[in-house]
Amino acid sequence: MNRKIISHPWSRRQFIHNLSLNAGMAALAMNGMHVFASCNDNNPAGEQNKTSAMSKGSKKKLGIALVGLGGYAGGQLAPALQQTEHCYLAGIVTGTPSKIDTWKSKYNLPDKNIYSYENFDSIKDNPDIDIVYVVLPNSMHAEYVIRAAKAGKHVICEKPMAITVEDCDKMIAACKEAGKMLSIGYRLHFEPYNLEMARLGQKKVYGNIKKMNAGFGFTIGNPAQWRLKKDLAGGGPLMDLGIYCIQGFCYTTGMEPIAVRAQEGKKTDMEKFREVEQSLSWQFEFPGGIVAEGKTSYADSMNNLRAEADKGWFEVDPAYNYSGQRGATSDGAMDFKHVNQQAKQMDDFADAVMNNRPTPVPGEMGRRDVKYLQAIYKAMRTGERVEIK
Ligand code: NDP
Repeated sequence: MNRKIISHPWSRRQFIHNLSLNAGMAALAMNGMHVFASCNDNNPAGEQNKTSAMSKGSKKKLGIALVGLGGYAGGQLAPALQQTEHCYLAGIVTGTPSKIDTWKSKYNLPDKNIYSYENFDSIKDNPDIDIVYVVLPNSMHAEYVIRAAKAGKHVICEKPMAITVEDCDKMIAACKEAGKMLSIGYRLHFEPYNLEMARLGQKKVYGNIKKMNAGFGFTIGNPAQWRLKKDLAGGGPLMDLGIYCIQGFCYTTGMEPIAVRAQEGKKTDMEKFREVEQSLSWQFEFPGGIVAEGKTSYADSMNNLRAEADKGWFEVDPAYNYSGQRGATSDGAMDFKHVNQQAKQMDDFADAVMNNRPTPVPGEMGRRDVKYLQAIYKAMRTGERVEIK
């Protein structure tokens, strides 16, 4: 069966947002879209962005500078930027001089667009760079997003947005103050199988959702890496992988969780997991009695998102890969063309900047998710049911 996405729930959300900006807030509660409306309830670019978009005149593509040339920047984002229509790889920011030559020759980057963490702030004087994309370890996101905003650049920040809600607040405030847009690297909002989960759930194609399950885990390697250091990662697999399950629950239900319980898994490798959890399970309560059970681990493989509703079920497994999703419903297989999620995500942001429209994955959504991550950790530590406000 070859199903097409007939109505894109997030396009509709965009529409609702625009409507709300122009005609007040009356439309926001429509059709269970309130989670998207509340996350989108910002006009990040504001008037200043209007001016900058117009003054770009005939400029066709926006320049992106990647900050932190690690696995994701080098393995996914830079190659994706060779496929984008509205933006291109214009510069890099790195703390490792030995990486520079390879990047320069591979991507034809001029010396003037290559920065270190020390001279990064002078990027403000570089008109080639419109957008700074922060791809650093989690606890460093806040500093570099704020410095990028102060340098007058629009910003994309990788997930999780930060390791505390307080940092998220500062990042959002810095971008607002600078009149610049902020988005989070939530690539699955541009991936057809996950979009279909959102459509089926939010449009209640199989009726009301009763139960959801999601799991994301893999076996982590090098015990010395930053992902296992609390000060750099903010936590373990929940911060890195469990956040995808949280996202999946929210875009599939179109709702926000109201309470959570959580249990840490047993640690079987104390060398790796001295500072962070090895695995974790949590149960979100959503409005209407929906229970969503999430699992994450750095010692087991899982990669799924599933909803059970009154009149059927729908799932994606694997759900969170860069490509290779497989999906099915109680009526049969899903069949969508695979896309380059990162190219679509960055193109969408560049288009949002150029057209002064909000991004579907704004800083407010990143902040919301960091709030959920913290609620899960609190529930894990206390063993109590934690209400989410
Ligand atoms: P890596 O460890 O591969 O790369 C991180 C890079 O950050 C390093 O190569 C280095 O770049 C720079 N860096 C600066 N300071 C430090 C430090 N103290 N310790 C380690 N690295 C440092 O990480 P990833 O690329 O996998 O992850 C980076 C971010 O991207 C994370 O927030 C992660 O959650 C997110 N991510 C998102 C994915 C997605 O699908 N959306 C997938 C993978 C990661 P340099 O040498 O140039 O200074």
